[in-house]
Amino acid sequence: MIIGLTGGIGSGKTAAANRFAAAHGIHVVDADQKSRVVVEPGRPALAHIVDRFGEAMLLDDGTLNRAALRETVFAAPEQRQWLEQLLHPLIRDEIITDLHSATSPYALLVSPLLVESGQNSLTSRVIVVDVPETMQLARTVQRDAVPEAQVRAIMQAQAQREERLRHAHDVLTNDSDLAALHAQVDALHARYMQLLERP
Ligand code: ATP
Repeated sequence: MIIGLTGGIGSGKTAAANRFAAAHGIHVVDADQKSRVVVEPGRPALAHIVDRFGEAMLLDDGTLNRAALRETVFAAPEQRQWLEQLLHPLIRDEIITDLHSATSPYALLVSPLLVESGQNSLTSRVIVVDVPETMQLARTVQRDAVPEAQVRAIMQAQAQREERLRHAHDVLTNDSDLAALHAQVDALHARYMQLLERP
C-alpha cells in the first residue's frame, strides 16, 4: 500500500512524514528530493536543459542554476511544458524505484504536487495536511526567513485549499502544536494497519 501525503508550502508535510517514519518505521519517499536528483550533474536531464536554454542554466560549480531556469520558464508556458515533459517521467521513475525498496507495511509518498503532477496514480490513498492560510504563511516566513509576499506568490501558484481537499481520503489538520499533529498521525497509522489486516 502506498499512501500519498500532500499539502501546500509550509503546511507540515515534513513534520507529519517525520512522525510516520520516526514513531512507526514507515518508509518515506520525498518527491521534492527526487526532483533535485534527476537534474544533478552527470544526469541526462541537465544536459538537455543546457542544450535548450544555454550555459546560463549552470552555476560555476556545474550544478543547475535553479533561479535562472525558473526565470526562463516562468513566463513561457511552452518552455515550462517542455521542462515538465522532460522531468516528470524521470522523477516518477526515481520515486517508483525508491518505493520498491520499502520494507515497511506501507510506504508514504510526500509531494507538494501529488495531484497536479499525476503522482497520485501511484497511491491508493491521499492524505492532505490542511492548515489555515494565515498559519501556513506565518510558519513558512519563520522557517525560510523570506518576505511574506514571496510566500503568498507560491501559495497562489499552488492548488487552492478546497481543491486539494477534494482529493483527500484522510485529512491531518495542522492548526495546533506538533503534539496534536503527532496524535493525528498515530491514529491514521493505526487505521492503515487495520486496513492492511482487513482490507
Ligand atoms: P514545504 O512544502 O515548504 O517543504 P512542509 O509542508 O514540509 O513545507 P514543514 O516544513 O513540515 O512543512 O512545516 C513548516 C514549518 O512549520 C516548519 O518550520 C515546521 O517545523 C513548522 N511546523 C509544522 N507543524 C507545526 C505545528 N503543528 N506547530 C508548530 N510548528 C509547526
